[in-house]
Order: sequence, then structure tokens, then C-alpha cells
Amino acid sequence: MKCLDCGYELSELRQDIITCPSCGGLLEIKIEFPSEFDLRRLKGRGVWRYKDVIAGEYNKIVTLDEGNTPLIKSRKYDKTYFKFEGANPTGSFKDRGMTVAISSALSLNYKIVVAASTGNTAASAAAYSSRAGLKSFIVLPKGKVALGKLAQSILYGTVIIEVDGSFDIAMNSVMKLYRDHKIVYPLNSFNPWRLEGQKTIAYEIVEDIGVPDNVIVPVGNAGNIYAIWKGFNELLEGGLIDKVPRMIGIQAEGAAPIAKALEKGLEQPEFVDSPDTIASAIRIGKPVNWKKAIKAMKSSKGFAVYVSDNEIITAQQELARREGVGAEPASAAAYAGYLKLLSSKKIEESEKSVVILTGHALKDPDIMIKAEAKRILVNPEHIDQVILGDQI
Ligand SMILES: *Cc1c(COP(=O)(O)O)cnc(C)c1O
Ligand SMILES: [Zn+2]
Repeated sequence: MKCLDCGYELSELRQDIITCPSCGGLLEIKIEFPSEFDLRRLKGRGVWRYKDVIAGEYNKIVTLDEGNTPLIKSRKYDKTYFKFEGANPTGSFKDRGMTVAISSALSLNYKIVVAASTGNTAASAAAYSSRAGLKSFIVLPKGKVALGKLAQSILYGTVIIEVDGSFDIAMNSVMKLYRDHKIVYPLNSFNPWRLEGQKTIAYEIVEDIGVPDNVIVPVGNAGNIYAIWKGFNELLEGGLIDKVPRMIGIQAEGAAPIAKALEKGLEQPEFVDSPDTIASAIRIGKPVNWKKAIKAMKSSKGFAVYVSDNEIITAQQELARREGVGAEPASAAAYAGYLKLLSSKKIEESEKSVVILTGHALKDPDIMIKAEAKRILVNPEHIDQVILGDQI
């Protein structure tokens, strides 16, 4: 384990350690890739199929059979695939990280878990902590959480704490709580153990189609793009693949500190105080994992771009209406970015690309219901005229 901020190195793996003991910064977990690891010999399903490369000891595993999500070939683009993370148990990729983080918390005998969330971490944390029998607290930006996600958090029975202000304020309060009281276990993505679960997205892609040229990921707190890169990078270092795909991050225009910094050639993001976009899962002005994300993009020759809310809505509808795939706005942002990069020729249609669709459309019904739709009130006796028109 090594700190990305000050370089502090722990010589042994310490599962109870989440942030740098020296400076409080971000820790990276480096695994020793098992020499006998063979993708063709793996058993089991989903995230825990890859347990030999997931760091840490787990005497209790809390699982809802997460992972093992469909890789759907695009109808429109011959070499493009959608990794549909909406098919996870609570409808987002967060479940991959949560099964590992909650299993870790339980194995280490924690009793209380806490997470700040724009919504999906909350739904996932609530579900997995219920299954584990742990007491959970969720910190949400009041009035800014998509309806489906809030409803899930209520259903799974977590304690909902609301703050006035953005997600970043909620996140700050959880980081401070963890700094001051190490008896609570934090479930946010600054917890590197969560990313150990999320990296399995890369392992699944390689099992399904080998190494793509591009992997396109929507970026909020910026943990997932790093986690997916980490998965590919481990397979590379283990000698199982011969290259890592370009990791391409997509942000929403009103919440794009990383994409705008890279565009200007800056080394560090200029944080956004009041992030604004309809894509609530990536409405984040101060991504805690920005350093990890930039590392992932730079070392894979990737980059980041941003898209407007209009582009996101158009992409969400195109995904649904041309591909039959329902993704929430933050996920559609990745597809919007893909379309934009095709038209600016930064990506070619002939390259093999995987677009990570991070969450299910049902998460955010308010957005879907505002879309233009054909709705016709009829007298049931005349339904044939409406449907068949001139043909009768
Ligand atoms: C959490 C989330 C993201 C952003 O992931 P980060 O790791 O925070 O960058 C994107 N889309 C959806 C649906 C999410 O739930
Ligand atoms: Zn440090």
C-alpha cells in the first residue's frame, strides 16, 4: 500500500487502513499477481470469481451475486460494446465495490458503516449493510438525489442524514468523521478496498472480448475510471494481456474539473463550488480521487472530455430508442462523450470501444418522464383506427 500524495509506503497489506497514516492522502493497493492465475480456469460468478486477485482476507463474504453484467454489442456501431452495470443487484456498479467493502468491514468487526452519496452509493451501501446486519448511515445532499435512489435507500432501511449543499459538502463531513473517529467504516471510493471490487469490470471485459482500444467511463468522484484501469494494468503486469486500453473520462459540462484541467494542460483540477448538471451521479465539484483518475488516463494515453446536459439527454434517448438499453443520465454521459469523440475523430468507429453504462434508467424516473412521447387518448372502440390508420 502506497500513498499517492506523500509516497508513504506500508510494507504489509493492512486491511484496516483506508487513508495514508502519515498524511491522510489516497492509498493505492498494489497486489502481487498470482503466477498461477489463469482466466480460463476461474470458477464461480461475478466479483468473487476474481477473489485470487482481490487484495485482503475475507472470513465473511456479503454478496448479492453482483457483477457478471452483460456486455451488449451495439446495433449501430459494429465494434462498440455497452457494459451494462445497471444489471447489478441495486442497479449500479457501486455493488461491485460494496460487496468487498462491506465484507471487509464485517471481517474486521466494524459495527457502523457510513457513506456520503449522490444516491447510488447510498442504495448499494443500504442493501449490503442490511444483508450484513451492520448499522448504516447515509449522508445525502438534500433535494438533490434522484427519486429511484432515494426510494431504494428508504426501502433498505438505512438512516438518511441530509445536508444543505452539494455532495462535496456531504463527502467532507464523512471524511472528517472518519479522521476523528476511526470506529466508523467509510464506504466511499476514497476507501481503496472498494475499488478492489470495481476493478473486476476490467477482468470481465477481457474475459468477454479481450482488450478493447478504448474504455469510456463517466467520471464523478473519479474512483471508477482508476479502478477499471487498475484491473487492466494488473492483467498486463501479470502477462495475461499485452496492452491497456485508453481510459477516457467523460464529465458533465457543469461539473467538469478534471476534463477542463486536462484541456487547459493543468496538472491539477480547478474545483467547482456549485456543480450543476442533470446527471446527478456525476454532479461533483471536488472529485476525491482526481489524482488516481489522472494517473489512469495519463498512463494509458487516455484523456477526458465533457458533454452538455442536452447531449446527455439526446444520448440517453438514442441508447434507449436505437439500442434498447436504458441507462441513467450519468451513464448516458459516457455515450454522449463517445458520440462526440467519434464526430471530432478522436476515436474511430473501427476501434474496439467499450462504453461503461454505470447505472440503470429506473434510477431517475423524473428525467425519463420529461421526454417527448407519443401519448394518445382514445376511445377503446377506435383503437384499430389509431394503430392501423389507412390500412383498414
Ligand atoms: C458513482 C457513479 C458514477 C461516478 O463514478 P466515480 O467513481 O465517482 O467517478 C457514474 N455513474 C453512476 C451511475 C454512478 O453511480
Ligand atoms: Zn501520505
